[in-house]
Amino acid sequence: MNFAIIGGTHGNEPVGIEVIRDLEQKGPSLYTHEFKTFVGNPKAFEIGKRYVNSDLNRAFGELGNSSGNESKRSEELDKEIRGKFDFLMDLHTTTSNMGITIILTHLDETTIKAACYLKEKNPELVIIVSSRAGTDCPYTTNMAPSALTVEVGPVANNVVKADLVFSSRKLVTDLLDFDFKKSYNLSQINCFHTQGILSYPEGKWMVHPEVDGHDFREVKNGDSLFININGDIVRHEGESIFPLFINEAAYQENNTAMEYAVKTTLDKVLNR
Ligand SMILES: [Zn+2]
Repeated sequence: MNFAIIGGTHGNEPVGIEVIRDLEQKGPSLYTHEFKTFVGNPKAFEIGKRYVNSDLNRAFGELGNSSGNESKRSEELDKEIRGKFDFLMDLHTTTSNMGITIILTHLDETTIKAACYLKEKNPELVIIVSSRAGTDCPYTTNMAPSALTVEVGPVANNVVKADLVFSSRKLVTDLLDFDFKKSYNLSQINCFHTQGILSYPEGKWMVHPEVDGHDFREVKNGDSLFININGDIVRHEGESIFPLFINEAAYQENNTAMEYAVKTTLDKVLNR
C-alpha cells in the first residue's frame, strides 16, 4: 500500500512536523509500505498560526470551505494526493488532555482494521469515531479511500513535546509495517462516537474544574458542567456524555467548550 503522511495541517502543531521530518530522513526502505510525507500548511507553520486565512482541515470534499492561502493549498494537496494514495494519516495535536487518540472519518474495512491493529499495539490508544464518519467530510482525510487522523495532547500551540512525538511516530510506523491481514472482533474494541458540541452558555461561563482536564470521563445527569466567577453552576441534564476536546484552544473562537461522545464498541457504530 501507498501511504500519504501529513504533518502541520495546522501550522501551530509542530509535533507532526517533527515526525514527518524524521520519516523523510530515514526513508521508506525501513517499512513494508511505501509512503510520502507532506507539510500540510507550510505558510501557517512559518508564522506559527493554526491557519493564514481559513482552517485547512475544513477545506476538502464537497463540503469544503476555504479562502486565500488555504484555498490554494487545499487545491495543491488535492492534486498531489487524491487518487495516488491508498491510506492517509494526518498528524495533529490538541491543547486538551486527550492522551493518544485516533479519529476515524472513514468506516471502510482497511481503516477499521488499521484502528484495531493500532489499539492492539498501543493499549493506551483511544479510538474516536467522528459523527460525520462514513459521509463526505471536509477534512484532509477526504483525499484518500482509507484514512485516520492522529490527535495527541495535551500540548500548547507551537510547543514540541518528546513523548507526543514518539507516540505519534509509533502509530505511523506501526501501520507502515501492518500487513492488513488480521481480523478483529469488533464487539471487543471500545470507542467513543462523537455526537456534537457544547457551546459555552450565554454569559461568562467557564468549564467546571470537575470536567476540565478530564476528557473521556463520564458526565452524568446532574453533574457540574460550567461555573461562573460567582460559583454558580450549570449542570448536565439527560443521558451520560463523555466530553472530549475540553477547552481546546482552537475552539474558543467559535465559543465551543467541548465535543461530546457516547462510549460504545466498533461493531455498534458499524451496525454489524
Ligand atoms: Zn490540528
